[in-house]
Amino acid sequence: MSFSQLGLSDAIVRAVTECGYSTPTPIQQQAIPAVLGGGDLLAGAQTGTGKTAGFTLPLLQRLSAMPRSGGAHRPVRALVLTPTRELAAQIGDSVKAYGKYVKLNSAVIFGGVNINPQITLLKQGVDILVATPGRLLDHLQQGTMKLDQVEILVLDEADRMLDMGFIHDIKRVLALLPKKRQNLLFSATFSDEIKALADRLLDSPAMIEV
Ligand code: AMP
Repeated sequence: MSFSQLGLSDAIVRAVTECGYSTPTPIQQQAIPAVLGGGDLLAGAQTGTGKTAGFTLPLLQRLSAMPRSGGAHRPVRALVLTPTRELAAQIGDSVKAYGKYVKLNSAVIFGGVNINPQITLLKQGVDILVATPGRLLDHLQQGTMKLDQVEILVLDEADRMLDMGFIHDIKRVLALLPKKRQNLLFSATFSDEIKALADRLLDSPAMIEV
């Protein structure tokens, strides 16, 4: 099984090959075709399984295949929510590495640092935004960006986000997204609270577990 056999384009496969990956991991083998198909996804996966590439690769491909709407104004098209700044930074690095040969902008925003450089970055136009929930809400409250054109939402490590008390922040963000979008939820564990969130968020999702 190769990355191209999963339906990924040459531009994506080239970048992945340069990262030194030759074979997709089990979660990638299942997640990539599911996400490319455009449906929602509920995935049970721990860190270290390759889940980041599992959602990032098909997300990059879908966005580059679908022309963006709008002219000079460049809205956020994919939003990845993740619990910590370390994870946000790692995912941001992965998006940049895997997206080396596609024309999409990405940015990472998290709390604990000055907000102004992030505002400058957002003004330049961002297709893929990786964020922690609290700082994302700060930006939304300041009106420095909108999320009304988001096509794909990823909740990464959803169980940790709930454990860290982000549920209200997440719900506030969800209320600002367009109704029609693709939703991907990744979690290592499935408490009743996660199941309730998945029920609320996902429409007939593909379910995978590794
Ligand atoms: P993750 O579970 O997304 O945090 O990924 C864990 C580690 O596996 C990261 O360091 C990735 O760079 C690496 N990785 C992801 N996919 C592959 C692959 N198909 N082959 C080899 N390494 C990979």
